[in-house]
Amino acid sequence: IDKKYKRNFSIIAHIDHGKSTIADRLIEMTHTVTSREMKSQILDSMDLEREKGITIKAQAVTLHYTAKDNNTYELNLIDTPGHVDFIYEVSRSLAACDGALLVVDAAQGIEAQTLANVYLALENDLEILPVVNKIDLPSADPDKVLLEVEDVIGLPTDNAALVSAKTGFGIDELLEKIVNFLPAPSGDENKPLKALIFDSHYDDFRGVITYIRIMDGSIKKGDKIVVMSTNKEFEVLELGRFVPKMQETDELQAGSVGYIVTGIKEIKDTQVGDTITLVNNRASSPLAGYRPALSMVFAGIYPISTDDYEDLKVALEKLQLNDASLTYQPETSVALGFGFRCGFLGLLHMEIIIERLRREFEIDLISTAPSVKYYVTMEGSTETKVIDNPAEFEDGRKIIEEPYIKGTIMVPKDYVGNVMELCQEKRGTFLNMSYIDENRVMIEYDLPLAEIVIDFYDKLKSKTKGYASFEYEFTGYKESNLVKVDILVSGEPVDAFSFIAHSDNAYTRGRLIAEKLKDVIPRQQFEIPIQAALGTKIIARTTIKALRKNVLAKCYGGDITRKKKLLEKQKEGKKRMKAIGNVEIPQEAFLAVLKLG
Ligand code: GDP
Ligand code: MG
Repeated sequence: IDKKYKRNFSIIAHIDHGKSTIADRLIEMTHTVTSREMKSQILDSMDLEREKGITIKAQAVTLHYTAKDNNTYELNLIDTPGHVDFIYEVSRSLAACDGALLVVDAAQGIEAQTLANVYLALENDLEILPVVNKIDLPSADPDKVLLEVEDVIGLPTDNAALVSAKTGFGIDELLEKIVNFLPAPSGDENKPLKALIFDSHYDDFRGVITYIRIMDGSIKKGDKIVVMSTNKEFEVLELGRFVPKMQETDELQAGSVGYIVTGIKEIKDTQVGDTITLVNNRASSPLAGYRPALSMVFAGIYPISTDDYEDLKVALEKLQLNDASLTYQPETSVALGFGFRCGFLGLLHMEIIIERLRREFEIDLISTAPSVKYYVTMEGSTETKVIDNPAEFEDGRKIIEEPYIKGTIMVPKDYVGNVMELCQEKRGTFLNMSYIDENRVMIEYDLPLAEIVIDFYDKLKSKTKGYASFEYEFTGYKESNLVKVDILVSGEPVDAFSFIAHSDNAYTRGRLIAEKLKDVIPRQQFEIPIQAALGTKIIARTTIKALRKNVLAKCYGGDITRKKKLLEKQKEGKKRMKAIGNVEIPQEAFLAVLKLG
């Protein structure tokens, strides 16, 4: 197909505004899959994605569409995740596109991530086509939404499409608009090959599958290729397109999106953002790279049973093959033994990785409270250390810097007071406030990331009855008055419970955690004191009273099945416990601390 009949585009939107459903309708209308194979959110192939109803990995699919002008177009659609944690996935997919459909929910209007995604699209020089979705809803107000797009985003809406992905209304016109208003790719097939790696995944049988967008030139089976940043050479064993399953082709030309298989065993050898060219006809310069993934949240992950350590290691290796934004390195904890310090893009990313380790790899594990990366300079030293594990903070006077973000919150005006109160409580500094329309407001705050990773989002949702949307952007490091708080169980510091807090909050948080642990650590045969300490100073103390009688005692004489059940339950509980000194601490305790931060 001639380049002028190709369109490479992405669908961007705030979460739940209907990206995946629009993708479904486009796939359906172009008969890309048979109706037998069709299921909703077809591009969300991971179990977790289907369950949570969110898109985690970006996906690509090639559609063929015969337009009213009687030409058949090749449409390469890249579905993207909408959640802020996965902004990295969005940014790399966009680099492979020339245009984007900006989907906005007709009843909700633009939200925080709508704006964040538009900025990314503009950074990538994409032509943006506004699409107002869900116009079937009784509360839909497409005209108002179009006005918002013009006023707040500054995009013209003359060509905007009004659709209902649910009923299919307007999808035929949307296809015409994609063809008419989104640009054809600009590359040149006669130039030396330049292909952008925008994603990759690991396949147990074929090794690494690399997703590429051909910018210039063409690529064929058997070609000898070289990855420009590493100079590593490979042979193309197979290539093809996503329809949406992988389908082999002989050649991919400038403007096309597809995959190649080279027998590469390590995803590290094909870094996303890198450029591929031909060994015998090299491009002179690589494509401009783009924003690398930045781990923002760190936590220790430990197997409950030491026997699972090797399995956990293998599982992390496998997950990283498909998710380069996951980082990990071995770590030991006095309390938890051998495990790994893992880096995540954000809290949701962390939750998903832990869930996948449990589900797909069946490893019983404990995670420590999430932390951010601090810069620590000891007094009298010129060396600044980067520390992402609270347990590693040394005693003594020091300068601590913590990461800050600019948070953007969109909310109906009635909740402005609640939002500001929350931001203030989270050590935020007010930056700006403006009206989106007569009812909704956009508020910007400078906030420490550490406060965001704990429970900011949950609190924001509950304080605004779910109406607020939130988005953040890392801005840099700033000095803060931070201290490390240790938690002692039976007089022993439990390193996995240590946390960093602002000195104003250290007492309150220390007390909260001591109280909480008192509730979640089961009584044992002896009394267990729990203390929170700032250095050698005890700032809070609670005590778990000794157990009076055996749990089974009350069953004596009782019926046998009940007794059995209780024993089963105890055994189950045991599995999820971690003995620290002579105290058994349940997984719940670690989670409780995590939630309280
Ligand atoms: P994404 O997060 O942007 O990918 O959004 P999804 O495509 O997963 O859609 C989010 C929710 O909105 C799902 O429950 C969809 O069924 C629903 N939805 C999507 N499009 C429409 C529409 O046009 N009308 C209505 N009423 N619901 C829709
Ligand atoms: Mg989706």
